[in-house]
Amino acid sequence: MDHTALSTISEALKHLAKNQKVKDYILNHPKLYKVLLHGARKLIGGETLQECVLEVIRLNHLGIHTTVDFCGENTNSEKQAHQATVEFLKLITTIAQQGLNSSISLDLSHIGLSVSDSCIENNLNQIVSHAKKNNVEVMISMEDFEKMEKVLEQYFHQAKKFENIGITVQAYLRHFDFEEIMHLPGKIRIVKGAFEEPESVAFGRGESLDNQYLRIVQMALQHGKKVSVGTHDIRLIEQMIELSDTKFHENIEFEMLHGVNEAKLIELKQRGFQVRDYLIYGKEWYLYYCHRLAENPMNFIEAFSRMAYFEG
Ligand SMILES: Cc1cc2nc3c(=O)[nH]c(=O)nc-3n(C[C@H](O)[C@H](O)[C@H](O)COP(=O)(O)OP(=O)(O)OC[C@H]3O[C@@H](n4cnc5c(N)ncnc54)[C@H](O)[C@@H]3O)c2cc1C
Repeated sequence: MDHTALSTISEALKHLAKNQKVKDYILNHPKLYKVLLHGARKLIGGETLQECVLEVIRLNHLGIHTTVDFCGENTNSEKQAHQATVEFLKLITTIAQQGLNSSISLDLSHIGLSVSDSCIENNLNQIVSHAKKNNVEVMISMEDFEKMEKVLEQYFHQAKKFENIGITVQAYLRHFDFEEIMHLPGKIRIVKGAFEEPESVAFGRGESLDNQYLRIVQMALQHGKKVSVGTHDIRLIEQMIELSDTKFHENIEFEMLHGVNEAKLIELKQRGFQVRDYLIYGKEWYLYYCHRLAENPMNFIEAFSRMAYFEG
């Protein structure tokens, strides 16, 4: 299939993902729901924490660390934000009790970023302090550019009190001030960036972005930071390994979204690198799944053929 057709599919999927009517129709249609979930299962940890734990155990046995996110959409009320917080606390307890080699990841919007400052601050504080007591690391995801300042504000506030909190940075941003992050103790996860931002804000995929990505990784390593390289771009990963001084290798880990390229994670593990798999679980997998399909339309073709053979 040619490149234009693939990007048309990608655009269509992005629009479809945002359409609430389509989402409601699919999720309330028993057969469609089942078919879609069947496709999504390759990319998610499961619909329940129990299912996800089984997948984490399997990955841990392969020497792959994990990070687990209870997926959900933006919460608009204190009640919803509290419910999500309670689930994250349960997730941390489960990781500790079952001795899993896993951190947790979360979007601040899921635990009340848009509700109020006190709501997000209290919820995040509860999660990070419970994680600290249980020796679990908390990684904050980065959201769209509009929310970035608020996300960073909350991160800085907690990172000054707790060492077990890390932040995700999007390399596609043209202007980003690393000064404060570089001097805080937590891990930094570097990703290309997933949102459609205007050109004035972010680079598109290509050489400028790749160069900036490599530059940020080098800078973080030279500041003694622990770095998680969150990309599936094999060429970039290999360039990074080549460029970075071997004395920094123990501070690097390679992290991928679940189901995208486990074989590469295993290969990197065999070459002596630390590797991590990012899994989500929960009932709200629809948007996440559509985004993954749109990110790489070949996923859509594959999912479509899996669906075609699905017998329910
Ligand atoms: C662990 C982790 C955490 C992340 N957290 C955030 C976050 O907090 N905020 C944020 O904005 N973004 C986040 N992202 C998403 C990230 O910004 C990118 O959108 C995403 O990783 C795709 O970019 P890429 O680096 O893989 O490179 P791309 O240039 O997009 O892709 C390079 C190649 O990788 C392969 N590939 C990429 N994606 C897929 C896929 N889904 N399925 C199959 N193959 C694929 C394809 O072969 C593609 O040609 C995260 C990604 C990872 C891995």
